Amino acid sequence: MIPRTIFSSEHEQFRDAIRRFIEKEIVPHHERWEEAGMVDRELWPKAGEAGMLCPNLPEEYGGYGADYLFNVVINEELARVGATGPGFAVHSDMVATYIYTFGSEEQKKNWLPKMASGEVIGALGLTEPSAGSDLKNIRTRAVRDGDDYVINGQKVYISNGQLCDIIVLACKTDPEAGAKGMSLILVEADRTGFRRGRNLKKIGLKAQDTSELFFDDVRVPVTNLLGQEGEAFSMAMSKLAEERLSIAVSAIANAERAVQLAVDYTKERKAFGRTIADFQNTRFKLAELHSEVLAKRVFVDRCIDLHMQKQLSATDAAAAKMLCTELQCRAVDECLQFFGGYGYMLEYPIARMYVDSRIRRIAGGASEIMRDIIAREMFKQH
Ligand SMILES: Cc1cc2nc3c(=O)[nH]c(=O)nc-3n(C[C@H](O)[C@H](O)[C@H](O)COP(=O)(O)OP(=O)(O)OC[C@H]3O[C@@H](n4cnc5c(N)ncnc54)[C@H](O)[C@@H]3O)c2cc1C
Repeated sequence: MIPRTIFSSEHEQFRDAIRRFIEKEIVPHHERWEEAGMVDRELWPKAGEAGMLCPNLPEEYGGYGADYLFNVVINEELARVGATGPGFAVHSDMVATYIYTFGSEEQKKNWLPKMASGEVIGALGLTEPSAGSDLKNIRTRAVRDGDDYVINGQKVYISNGQLCDIIVLACKTDPEAGAKGMSLILVEADRTGFRRGRNLKKIGLKAQDTSELFFDDVRVPVTNLLGQEGEAFSMAMSKLAEERLSIAVSAIANAERAVQLAVDYTKERKAFGRTIADFQNTRFKLAELHSEVLAKRVFVDRCIDLHMQKQLSATDAAAAKMLCTELQCRAVDECLQFFGGYGYMLEYPIARMYVDSRIRRIAGGASEIMRDIIAREMFKQH
């Protein structure tokens, strides 16, 4: 492998500690959580204690003031064992990051230390039954009434939807103003009129709770507004590069794992008096996949490096997300083939990876949206 140069010894020490935590507190429970449709709530404070939640926040808000590479380590270590249940990425990298970047001092002091400790779980409510990719067409309304907003609407596919205590909710505050009429509002899950719908049955990510959320005349004070009214779209845009890069980080770690699982399995399994690894088809296919993963791993590391210097463009992050998630899905599919019937059995990690990986090409911006972003930049003078 081409040596990775982005991590320091501090990051590697953190990796060792996180790996031990995941082996002890996550791996042995994951199958049970898949059956339950969500992780145990008790995992969250333990993860907070282990430094897995919101490590980037400054110490005054409960974090370690760590750099983005600590998030990379967490994402990679969860991907290494296929731990898709804990919704830490949405909680730390999205909800806490939004509150930290755009929140008032009072909002930060109120929520961030509890999010870093795992006492409070966050969810991000953007998608609705009638609008996902086309975010500016959401219908959830927040109407100003004195010192309150009154919120009505519905969200769907919300990660951490069953467990969350606080939701960063995208609402229309001025329906005539298009993208400029959307705002982000903090909604506490114990507000009257808020209701959780079903924990949705998915083909994969079975241990992660994904839900419908309903808002019927939910009243929150105007001090729950995050940032400025009408700024939701531009706030979301300013965080997109990091979100897409984080998805690429997990995707490439998953693709690497798939190739490694296939190498290990085909060395042992025999057919026609030889191991499966002795067939030229196996060797060539895995050599090709290995080379592709290697190339994209170097690309992702370079993107991480640029992001650390605040120089990663949204277009390049979109390219990383599109390329790595497409490769992840193809690598998992092609590697599963070498397992024969066992590859179709959920007790084999490669089978779980097959169903878990599919979402990567849809959520966080579908592959087609990524292509559109890249093409728009390429043809902008056209
Ligand atoms: C497991 C899971 C977890 C999720 N977690 C969250 C969450 O925590 N919070 C949240 O807000 N949302 C979440 N989502 C929603 C997710 O972000 C959306 O599903 C995604 O953005 C796509 O939106 P959509 O489903 O409405 O598809 P649509 O917008 O209807 O798009 C359907 C398809 O049409 C095509 N398409 C759309 N637009 C274009 C275009 N411009 N050009 C070409 N093709 C196009 C694409 O192929 C796309 O996949 C989650 C979804 C899932 C399944």
